[in-house]
Amino acid sequence: MATLKSLAFETRAVHAGREDFARIGAHAPPIDLSTTYPVADLDVGTASYDALSGGAATAANPIYARLYNPTVARVEAALANLEGTAACVAFGSGMAATNALLTAVRAGGAGHVLAVRPLYGGTDHLLASGLAGLDAEFVTADEVAARLRPETGLVIIETPANPTLDLVDIAAVAVAAGKVPVMVDSTFATPLLQQPAALGARYVMHSATKFLGGHGDVIAGVICCSEADAQPLRQVRAITGALLHPLGAYLLHQGLPTLPLRVERAQANAGILAERLSAHRAVARVYWPGLGTVRNNHLLDTQMRGPGALMSFDLRGGHAAGAAAMAAVRLITPAVSLGSVDSLIQHPAALTHRALDEATRAATGITPGLMRLSVGIENVEDLWADLAQALEA
Ligand SMILES: *Cc1c(COP(=O)(O)O)cnc(C)c1O
Repeated sequence: MATLKSLAFETRAVHAGREDFARIGAHAPPIDLSTTYPVADLDVGTASYDALSGGAATAANPIYARLYNPTVARVEAALANLEGTAACVAFGSGMAATNALLTAVRAGGAGHVLAVRPLYGGTDHLLASGLAGLDAEFVTADEVAARLRPETGLVIIETPANPTLDLVDIAAVAVAAGKVPVMVDSTFATPLLQQPAALGARYVMHSATKFLGGHGDVIAGVICCSEADAQPLRQVRAITGALLHPLGAYLLHQGLPTLPLRVERAQANAGILAERLSAHRAVARVYWPGLGTVRNNHLLDTQMRGPGALMSFDLRGGHAAGAAAMAAVRLITPAVSLGSVDSLIQHPAALTHRALDEATRAATGITPGLMRLSVGIENVEDLWADLAQALEA
């Protein structure tokens, strides 16, 4: 058989991270719940301890599950393969992943980060609060080059961005950042629709809680990057304990084979719903890259392979109409989060982007009537019937 790397995305989604199954006689990913591992030879144990706590990917002896876990390592190998990077480091949540990178950047001597809004509400909050111990400056993509300082250690962008689906030019930001590494939060796109590392991003971050897991039953985050960049991240994870539990790693890994099927079906559903919502009298505007209605929409053709399954729409009736729609849906779940097999709808101004002040919300297009819809893989006519009755309410 050709090496797995040379096969198509769909095939790799099914088989990546499962390369050792024939050797160990497994078919589904084994779940290794051990917290500690026997040390048979003290010299091997000592060397392994040093290697793993220093951020090595593996060692002869796993030592302790905070340092290494084989179930987690398998899903990391799978995601590195799908994202086209040498390595991937998994964490207990998307926020833990971003925070670990910020910690590594700070430990490397940097004191400043640039971040392009809009961002996921939690990321915005982490940066603005100063909790990560870095001076965070919010800029537009065009301002990146001019705002770099000698102590800038990272540029953070999100594309498509939350919740207005703005697209950000990954290659242009990477050029503008020069030697400063760029992290792309690629959660909305998944590695099926966009591969930021090929466009110059040093770190590709995913909330694996969303499309990668895909079934709404695991909180996880990953950063895909080079092996050299992965080492400090594993070190931070080992020291701070920002682990992905092996049960979560198993669920995440079981989500990957259907990632292309789920994303393609949800995206097709999204296209039909976006058109019908655009024609609905209660809706002032629909934001979906497939309609050509988002900022920098031309990037859909240059850096993405599809518009994805997330959209936002602005209700003419404002906050009251949003609250009524949230209360009226029957099939679609009124809930935050996204990227699950089932459709979810939420109100960013009242929920996920609540921490932003009113001026920032207004500047980033998060109006009182804005709804965010994560389209699932249900039958699209059933989804439309539910949306249409909710809009009448
Ligand atoms: C959910 C999400 C995050 C945070 O991930 P968690 O797994 O909830 O910690 C970050 N970025 C984006 C775009 C998200 O949707």
